[in-house]
Amino acid sequence: MTHPTRALVDLSAIRDNVRLLAEAAGRPVMAMVKADAYGHGAVPVAKAALEAGASWLGVAFADEALALRAAGITAPVLAGVCPPDTDFAAAIAGGVDLGVGSVGLVRAVAAAAAAKGVPARIHLKADTGMSRGGQTRDGWPALVEAALKAEAEGAVRIIGLWSHMACSDEPEHPSVARQTAAFAEMVGYAERAGVRPELRHLANSSAALHLPETRWDLIRPGLAIYGLNPAPALPDPGLRPAMTLTSTVTVAKRVPAGSGVSYGHLYITDRETTVALVPAGYADGVPRSGSNVLEVLAAGRRRKIAGRVCMDQFVLDVGDDPIEEGDEVVLFGPGDRGEATATDWADAVGTVSYEIVTRLGGRVPRVHTD
Ligand SMILES: *Cc1c(COP(=O)(O)O)cnc(C)c1O
Repeated sequence: MTHPTRALVDLSAIRDNVRLLAEAAGRPVMAMVKADAYGHGAVPVAKAALEAGASWLGVAFADEALALRAAGITAPVLAGVCPPDTDFAAAIAGGVDLGVGSVGLVRAVAAAAAAKGVPARIHLKADTGMSRGGQTRDGWPALVEAALKAEAEGAVRIIGLWSHMACSDEPEHPSVARQTAAFAEMVGYAERAGVRPELRHLANSSAALHLPETRWDLIRPGLAIYGLNPAPALPDPGLRPAMTLTSTVTVAKRVPAGSGVSYGHLYITDRETTVALVPAGYADGVPRSGSNVLEVLAAGRRRKIAGRVCMDQFVLDVGDDPIEEGDEVVLFGPGDRGEATATDWADAVGTVSYEIVTRLGGRVPRVHTD
């Protein structure tokens, strides 16, 4: 064993979730594997998603896409966020599709493509109401015009038109109807101007599941592939969490009543008790805000972390229950054994499950199982 805390990633759950999403939405799937597949390990997850029928992969940055290429993955990959200092030549050479949201970027990509003699594959990003990437209605005509000009010159191919939803986890939110209408209008404008996109795409996980009008030609699920419910207020169709985070009891000992536990003595034992040291801390992705709050499964039941989460460790107060050095502790997982889920952890510390899985530290090995 290399490290006491490990993230077990069940690739069969990833495959089942991809199939379930494709079926629920009735559309091809771009599996979003940015940020090391939300902490799950980009290459094994990408391969599993493709095996399950995903036809595209999506990442944020071109370097993430090139890492997939270096691993031998040849499926289409979209790098959605392309800062101006992106190595466009390398991305074009690697056959990476690029998300382009400004005229300046069209020109930079086209120049790199012209130098290479290979057209760049681009997806024009519409800002339909999130005020993040892409152009609003005001800037859209100029973006479309610049892209068509570059296409006529043979420097780019406009593969896609796309946008992103701000509130798809709240189907009643008024922005949903505004964004879907704006997308239809902006797609219509581009097509009338002469764009012939292969793909128009808008839906992330919660949109793919709950907003049929956003599905267009392809869905772009991320979180749901990992089995986590993207809209915890709404039911999901039976996704299975892929990741289980485990660690190993390192010291177990009796301490007297009145013992202060961990930094700052935020926890004081109220009786003689057994404390167990778990060697996982905020460097591994256990939120420090989970001090005295988060629950883990140890010695047969769920127990709150006692006191501060440290960089490399935290402590449990297990009372008089038997626990031994070497015993497994399940931090979170699918919930089958009574352990907390990543969604439970997120709720407890005021964040989203996206952050819980994505923030795992680099020293935590991802162990892929089937
Ligand atoms: C991350 C991301 C997704 C996936 O979002 P989920 O909510 O995880 O499904 C889809 N599209 C874009 C542009 C993204 O950045």
